[in-house]
Amino acid sequence: MDSVECAKVAEYMLYKGMVVSILRLNKTGLPLSWLSREEAATLYVKEQVVWSLGDEQFRLHGGINRCGERSYLDVAPIIACDGSVRSHPFAPTLSNRFLFRRDGHRCMYCGFQFSDSQLTRDHIIPKVQGGADCWNNVVAACQRCNHHKGGRTPEQASMELLAVPFEPNLFEFMYLANRQILGDQMEYLQSRFSGQRIWEAA
Ligand SMILES: [Zn+2]
Repeated sequence: MDSVECAKVAEYMLYKGMVVSILRLNKTGLPLSWLSREEAATLYVKEQVVWSLGDEQFRLHGGINRCGERSYLDVAPIIACDGSVRSHPFAPTLSNRFLFRRDGHRCMYCGFQFSDSQLTRDHIIPKVQGGADCWNNVVAACQRCNHHKGGRTPEQASMELLAVPFEPNLFEFMYLANRQILGDQMEYLQSRFSGQRIWEAA
């Protein structure tokens, strides 16, 4: 399949009703990003895929060649690509979207589940008391609990934290960045989770 044919490939790769992304690794096996199937196909065409993993292959159909045959390309759910290997330490960006997902969309004080719009970022040691805006000092909290806690620490407010906050490692961060992860991809990422949360595949 050439790159022109890749461009013709239809919109989404659907699998059991999910929009599938391909997990891109560097050649040492560290996750780099989630790719659309078109992006993955481009890497195959450029022969940058050095190894791949996953039982399920996704067949992308291209155009009809001169012999009247329809071309295709099989894409694995996990692909390791050639290229430079990142040397600087990984620092996950703190965002509410990833934070709420880390905490399973649960308020870390009352334990109930809420939607993104109903959750807030609570600073365990409040900013007014010098608390930092970093993964280790923030949890998801519902508006009611956050309001009740106000500018106090959990101890000062007599509120119990349900789980210890933590900074996700690279593998956990990749999990947080995609809501629809295939079994093979989840298995790969999970092998390097720190075990501080129990997360399930979609
Ligand atoms: Zn709450």
